[in-house]
Amino acid sequence: MSDDEPVVSVLGLGAMGTALAEALLATGHRTTVWNRTAEKADPLVARGAARADTAADAIIASRLVVVCLLDYDSVSQVLAPHTDVLAGRTLVNLTNGTPGQARRMAAWAADHGADYLDGGIMAVPPMIATPAAFLLYSGPSGVFEKSRPVLDVFGESVYLGSDPGMAALHDLALLSGMYGTIMGALQAFAMVRSAGVPTTEFAPLLSRWMGSMGGWPAAAAEQIDKGDYRDGVVSNLAMQAAAYPNFRAAAEELGISFELLAPLHSLMRRRVADGHGHEDLTGVIELLKK
Ligand code: NDP
Repeated sequence: MSDDEPVVSVLGLGAMGTALAEALLATGHRTTVWNRTAEKADPLVARGAARADTAADAIIASRLVVVCLLDYDSVSQVLAPHTDVLAGRTLVNLTNGTPGQARRMAAWAADHGADYLDGGIMAVPPMIATPAAFLLYSGPSGVFEKSRPVLDVFGESVYLGSDPGMAALHDLALLSGMYGTIMGALQAFAMVRSAGVPTTEFAPLLSRWMGSMGGWPAAAAEQIDKGDYRDGVVSNLAMQAAAYPNFRAAAEELGISFELLAPLHSLMRRRVADGHGHEDLTGVIELLKK
């Protein structure tokens, strides 16, 4: 491969893959792109990207191959027919998946002579290449360091160690926190909307209240790592469990569903019934062990 050839290939030009390829082009990287639906590459080609007619051509074109497809099934469908061209390549798979999927993909890549980094993108496409974006990576540290100058284009690169499953683990954990927050916010909006309050009027109060909760993860993590939910309790579980039925009753009064909040209610009741009412709500995590 000569210095004149593209140095990065991007497989997958959905909303995210397109943002990644745009960031590479904007920073002067010679970039080859491929997408199942070929015309999605047209705007990138107009901006200077090289078009690969097949996924194999894209893999051959660059030592660093960024993969950003819908899910791991699509990654397997795209890569599996091209095992003969993987040797010597570094695959950076930014497709959302589980830790187990990432580890299996890393082993599969190694079987075919490719280096493998798994990644999780903590950004939406418009955030790519802005200071707000951070991306999680795991896999061999040497491979990460070698790839880092390119990866840093997408956002801050956060390296989580050699176990390829770590990026997916942290990605899904952070997204779990996000979805929990969104669930609560949707319930809040449904409540005020049902009473005729414009949600745009309510949103600043909700943002302020969510901001007040910003210290919760650090305090809860202290308790969880100690396995002791009795320290520094200011809002004990029994008190919270006594108030929680009000959310169900209010939902009934307002004519809205309680289904987003119901699961926590049953966990709180079980934890109180088990004799932990004087402890913090954080102790509910013990009921999540299987
Ligand atoms: P899109 O739905 O916009 O794009 C999906 C991409 O996958 C397209 O390129 C599509 O090709 C391709 N694809 C799907 N199935 C197949 C298949 N069987 N064979 C070949 N190609 C296939 O998704 P995004 O770009 O938004 O997301 C891509 C990844 O990035 C996902 O894993 C997502 O979870 C992750 N992500 C997305 C974020 C976002 O906000 N968008 C944020 C963080 C992570 P085609 O165009 O031909 O349909």
